[in-house]
Amino acid sequence: SLTVGVLALQGGVGEHTGLLRKAAAHLGAEFDLVEVRTAEQLARCDALIIPGGESTTMAIVARRLGLLEPLREFVKVDGKPVWGTCAGLVMLAEEASATKKGGQELVGGLDVRVLRNRYGTQIQSFVADIQLPFLGEAEKPFRGVFIRAPVVDEIIITPSVASQKTPEPVEVMGVFRKVGSTDVDGGSVEEDIVAVRQRNVFGTSFHPELTDDIRIHVWWLKQVLDTARHKGLPVDSAV
Ligand code: GLN
Repeated sequence: SLTVGVLALQGGVGEHTGLLRKAAAHLGAEFDLVEVRTAEQLARCDALIIPGGESTTMAIVARRLGLLEPLREFVKVDGKPVWGTCAGLVMLAEEASATKKGGQELVGGLDVRVLRNRYGTQIQSFVADIQLPFLGEAEKPFRGVFIRAPVVDEIIITPSVASQKTPEPVEVMGVFRKVGSTDVDGGSVEEDIVAVRQRNVFGTSFHPELTDDIRIHVWWLKQVLDTARHKGLPVDSAV
């Protein structure tokens, strides 16, 4: 069966493995779930989640453990499915701008610049319903948990993209609309990109693992299964 890792340097690791287990059961598929702290553990994985937490800390720990380069290879050379939530999304961005501090090491993979801490500090955390069309048109909105969340500020053209003949587009998978009260047409609309995908890389600003809604985990595991089938790997699932 396929091995799905959760990067376990820091942050919301157990919450993800918990929801992955439920999602796998829902799909009737077998996965080995591993917490990843070493390059050896990473090498065993067919797919990886980078959880929420604190991206600067995560990058420092990853550097110290010699995991940054293996992570970059996992994402960009091997092209294995990777999903980052919140700080994980920051890690997967090619560029990050912070409200306070500037440069930090990133894994990259998504040709975007994220704005860290878009909505302010911890106490300005909030929950909001978001429409995620990829879950299906008729689906009910997803409860987005935003904790010092980053958003995708801009889709950028990196040198590697510029050199490709047909670069893979960055797909906007979800937006958060904050309805203001200033507009004469009944409210101005502020819109932030809170879910994106490019090739094998998926990122969300919010924390599905802090809800009991398994839909995104189910959706993502299906992508993992599809990718494995394309590579001709043995897959233990009828889905
Ligand atoms: N603010 C954190 C960062 O920039 C992310 C917060 C989170 O993952 N909940 O890394």
